[in-house]
Amino acid sequence: MGKPKILNLVLKNLASKPATIQYPKEPTPVEPDYRGRHYADLGKCTGCSLCSIECPADAIKMTPIPSGYDVPKSNPRKIYPLIDYGKCVYCYRCITVCPFNAYISTNEYRLADTAMHNSSELSLSTLKKGGPG
Ligand code: SF4
Ligand code: SF4
Repeated sequence: MGKPKILNLVLKNLASKPATIQYPKEPTPVEPDYRGRHYADLGKCTGCSLCSIECPADAIKMTPIPSGYDVPKSNPRKIYPLIDYGKCVYCYRCITVCPFNAYISTNEYRLADTAMHNSSELSLSTLKKGGPG
């Protein structure tokens, strides 16, 4: 390749958009049905434990809802499925088996996060505060 051709190529590349995505500044696109982080809506969950029993990765531990939350009467044991995102294999079996359609799925794939390694924050955010617990 002669010098003028190389120069043209350099100038063209300088003026063009980068070929790569500038992650993490710019999120990478995912398919609409991508299985990302999921959590139970505690306004719908009855604490039946079926999702925990059916989870093939043993990633769901039924856990007491902390005091101070307004827990629906349909959850008399006041427990909820706590998902360990480090163990989860994102098969979404829990979502499929839930008889109350209580799971909320998302496309969130950025899971290398020390603050949110389980579903507690997301699930508890679905309840109002102020109940007797
Ligand atoms: S997606 Fe699969 S592995 Fe993850 S918590 Fe649900 S059932 Fe378990
Ligand atoms: S299967 Fe559904 S209703 Fe039962 S504990 Fe799991 S999320 Fe709650």
